Amino acid sequence: MKYADVIVDIAQGSLDRIFQYRIPLALAGQLTEGTPVYVPFGRGNRLIRGYVTGFSDQPSWPPEQLKEIHSLAAGEVSIEQRLLSLAVWMKKRYGCTMIQALKTVMPVKKKVNARIERVVVRAVSAGEILSYMQTSVKKNQTARLRLLQALARDGQIPYEAVLHKLNISRQTLDSVIRAGLARLEEKQGQQEAGWENGLPEITLNQEQQEAVSRFVRDFDRGEAGITLLHGITGSGKTEVYMEMIHHVLSHGRQVIMLIPEISLTYQTVMRFYRRFGSRVAFIHSRLSQGERYEQFERARRGQVSIMIGPRSALFTPFSHLGLIVIDEEHESAYKNETVPRYHAADVAEKLAQMTGAGLVLGSATPSVDLYARAVRGGCKLSCLTSRAREGSQLASVTVVDLREELKAGNRSIFSRKLYGEILKRLEQKEQVLLFLNRRGYSSFVSCRSCGEAIRCPHCDVSLKAHNNGMLVCHYCGYTAPIPRLCPSCGSPYIAGFGTGTQKAEAAAAKIFPQARILRMDQDTTGGKEGHEKLLAAFMNHEADILIGTQMIVKGHDFPDVTLVAALAADLSLYTSDFRSGERTFQLLTQAAGRSGRRGKAGEMVIQTYAPEHYSIQAAARQDYQMFFREEMAYRKLMDYPPCTEMVAVTVSSRRQELAAEGAALIARKLEPFRGEHFSVIGPADPGIPRINDIFYRLVYFKSHRPELVMKAVGEIEAYYEWKKKKKNVMIQFDFI
Ligand code: ADP
Ligand code: ZN
Ligand code: ZN
Repeated sequence: MKYADVIVDIAQGSLDRIFQYRIPLALAGQLTEGTPVYVPFGRGNRLIRGYVTGFSDQPSWPPEQLKEIHSLAAGEVSIEQRLLSLAVWMKKRYGCTMIQALKTVMPVKKKVNARIERVVVRAVSAGEILSYMQTSVKKNQTARLRLLQALARDGQIPYEAVLHKLNISRQTLDSVIRAGLARLEEKQGQQEAGWENGLPEITLNQEQQEAVSRFVRDFDRGEAGITLLHGITGSGKTEVYMEMIHHVLSHGRQVIMLIPEISLTYQTVMRFYRRFGSRVAFIHSRLSQGERYEQFERARRGQVSIMIGPRSALFTPFSHLGLIVIDEEHESAYKNETVPRYHAADVAEKLAQMTGAGLVLGSATPSVDLYARAVRGGCKLSCLTSRAREGSQLASVTVVDLREELKAGNRSIFSRKLYGEILKRLEQKEQVLLFLNRRGYSSFVSCRSCGEAIRCPHCDVSLKAHNNGMLVCHYCGYTAPIPRLCPSCGSPYIAGFGTGTQKAEAAAAKIFPQARILRMDQDTTGGKEGHEKLLAAFMNHEADILIGTQMIVKGHDFPDVTLVAALAADLSLYTSDFRSGERTFQLLTQAAGRSGRRGKAGEMVIQTYAPEHYSIQAAARQDYQMFFREEMAYRKLMDYPPCTEMVAVTVSSRRQELAAEGAALIARKLEPFRGEHFSVIGPADPGIPRINDIFYRLVYFKSHRPELVMKAVGEIEAYYEWKKKKKNVMIQFDFI
């Protein structure tokens, strides 16, 4: 290679500043992607630091105009260099471009007015607050009551958490401040030195203590490694993470903790805040790029040492990372659905390896892949087998065969068993969660004469009807009013089909007229704010029944819920995806974990047409081992991961024939690999062959031998690197 691409000014996040340089003979063979170098820059040829991001044989400019790399830049591995190496790794593994990888790992610099960190501080005693609460109860001021309750319990609450997590309006907060019960204080500039660690509020039980001790021992030996923390719902995993975090901080190192956004509730935020105070920072998808950048800068400056957030929190620029925690490891939110299609756990593992940090992945229902690895001895395994809270028990689960209901003449969506259980909860003033486990099942509009559903002109999907009378494409955002005549046949008889949850709500309202019902799905939530409003209202007991999609049973802790029901558990069982059994088991088991969190006995009803399916049977018994045995037998039989490694190669282009041609070429390229240990499937159409006017084709391959898989990936990559320069074709790898 004669030429190198060098990115300069990486700290500024201006990723477009990549320049080509000649490689001097003296440095030939010494450079790899990520190597820090000094290069002459600008008119004065001032020497500045840069990083090599790629190589080529051909110059993109007349060679005499290219400058030469000056020298290697020695020194400590900087944060930038580490992030850059991570980008290089992502580019190779997922087949994206260097720019796409860099954009993923480097925070985009945006000028922001330094945000003032504020806290709401209680101005009077907790007892005094309690006396004010009586008035709010009488006046039915629910939001104010919520705030007063929180203030009585906690003397200090971050302003953000009050607004967004407790869902208190600025007016309500102001009125409480005017009444002299609280005040707003600025936290700007406060350094962590002035901050004391809070003490743990509980004593760990034996299993928790063992998990912590083991981690501490290995961490102190410099062998923190990878640990799966398999703990049933409510077994106290969060307490274990907090002890581990405490230990890592006491060694002057920092922590990244990933939590699915939906689980980052007020309770969770405050648990960390009480324990770690202003050393903990949160990021979430509502932050603007500038605000996120600001949080990252605080981490870089050492003002915070724990970053909690969704998968992008992985790229926090900590200088001495000591631990990465991934809570609810099985959650699909950890997989990035756009390019590069990385899984947070894979990137975290790479990052942990680069920094010597430990990696702890926790779940009540670990992914089959991770559990299989633990069984093989590929990572450590710590188990929590009982509920942590005194008197708390797992819910008892009943499986109802819907075929029997039909035979008995019951055509309602509520089985007789479920009907009786709901009535009982309504009488006892306890709460009920009813959910439909179906993804993306919302209303579309179709013609009753010709049966055509109205489709997006840019994507191969049906448009979804929204409440405001508009049709929206959930893939590209295309929006149009609902037409009065069918675009295919001109018939005026077109109709929307209600969502499953809408129908369930209507049915429930009819059968239980006395119940207050809330519905939560894509249509009712209107973005994340609406989401939290609904949850806060339900938490506040403003309704008896909450009906929704699976999002209502994820991560929340509703103290008064004693009954959870899956209205049709098999909806998620028969998708084309080999992980549907796993997802169904996880969802049902997690849902059972939502019932009876506080002393009161919890129940769950699973309504299904497939009561004999092992995913449902195992979920009913909340028996992970049983599920794992059955699922592994199936994966072995079918040669699916984790028994093989499987890669989907996606070829895409604006021109359909190019995508097809590209996929055919890839398949041919894979032909020599084909054999006893390597199989190729496709080319095939993906579920949605066209999105936003870009066409997609797929080729799958799988093998028991990881080294063969990486070799195949490497070969396709190298081949395509050259090819895509000529044609408008993209290729990416998805490890599935
Ligand atoms: P998980 O994260 O496994 O669902 P949590 O850490 O949220 O569990 O704990 C569930 C509940 O049990 C919490 O209310 C927590 O305060 C409580 N808890 C955890 N550990 C203990 C313990 N050792 N003793 C008493 N209560 C505990
Ligand atoms: Zn579209
Ligand atoms: Zn029609």
